[in-house]
Amino acid sequence: MMIDPFDRTIDYLRVSVTDRCDFRCVYCMAENMTFLPKKDLLTLEELDRLCSCFIDLGIKKLRLTGGEPLVRRDIMTLIRSLGRHLASGALSELTLTTNGSQLTRYAMELRDCGVGRINVSLDTLDQTRFQAITRWGRFDQVMAGIAAAKSAGLHIKINAVALKGVNEDELSRMLAWCGAEGFDLTLIETMPMGEIDGDRTGQYLPLSLVRARLANSWTLTDLPDCTGGPARYVRVEETGGRLGFITPLSHNFCESCNRVRVTCTGQMFMCLGQEDAADLRSALRISDSDLPLQAAILEGIGRKPKGHDFVIDRRTRRPAVQRHMSVTGG
Ligand code: SAM
Ligand code: SF4
Repeated sequence: MMIDPFDRTIDYLRVSVTDRCDFRCVYCMAENMTFLPKKDLLTLEELDRLCSCFIDLGIKKLRLTGGEPLVRRDIMTLIRSLGRHLASGALSELTLTTNGSQLTRYAMELRDCGVGRINVSLDTLDQTRFQAITRWGRFDQVMAGIAAAKSAGLHIKINAVALKGVNEDELSRMLAWCGAEGFDLTLIETMPMGEIDGDRTGQYLPLSLVRARLANSWTLTDLPDCTGGPARYVRVEETGGRLGFITPLSHNFCESCNRVRVTCTGQMFMCLGQEDAADLRSALRISDSDLPLQAAILEGIGRKPKGHDFVIDRRTRRPAVQRHMSVTGG
């Protein structure tokens, strides 16, 4: 078991398998992005070794993310291989966060590899808005992907970033749609990560306000927090579905943090909102034995900070953290 200096058990790992993506969501990326050179990325074999080492050390839940995880070439080889840890009982959940564009192709296979639930990011049900938000996304393709995932038997949670003046008038409709489809919904506040083409301060919509508005039309009952994550959940009594609020800016969730993140180049970030990282790639490549890697992981966990200091700085309008969400993985 991995315990950090603040007595938090670390049993949840998020791994970004690529920084690339087939979309260019306005809050996430600039349209003209420079991606990392391929040689800097961990190979699929290295990712497998890394994840397996974390699992040996006590990780129970593993989420693959990106960039868009399903655009990484041969990604199913990795997912299939990691499925062995589910079969052995070492891992209790293998999941991913995806923009949904490749799900018609992969949904059945994901299910077959032992993936039981996925998060699909979808900020709007309106095709024109979808185009404006994702820039390069194809709405029909994503909707077909979600339908394919549903019919493959995957449990689906829709993640939507709440954007002021963009989708704020639609969130109640999305809640109704998710309820009807049997999906959970999680709303996310924009986080000040990485340079984008615009100014984020204008996009920020506090979820406390969103919740108060939704409560005018829906009965929301607080649920006890059991995820150890930044989300707070309510039951939507009319649909029976769950609604989550991820509020990194307006609410401090760090005291129950159970996770660390690894980038596609093997940097372990102990906190999404801090720059400190541990270099696991060198530890991986230095030896065929996992001992240096284990030592590097434990050393990093040993300096996991107490919390983040995210702010959208209104004076400089600079992101609090320079790296993009697509590097660390959402
Ligand atoms: N491409 C996949 C997707 O979109 O689901 C996985 C990676 S994406 C970086 C993971 C999540 O981060 C998405 O739900 C996305 O909406 C969210 N995200 C990206 N940039 C963000 C930001 N600056 N603030 C808040 N959420 C962000
Ligand atoms: Fe790609 Fe996901 Fe970022 Fe959108 S949020 S640009 S889909 S990585």
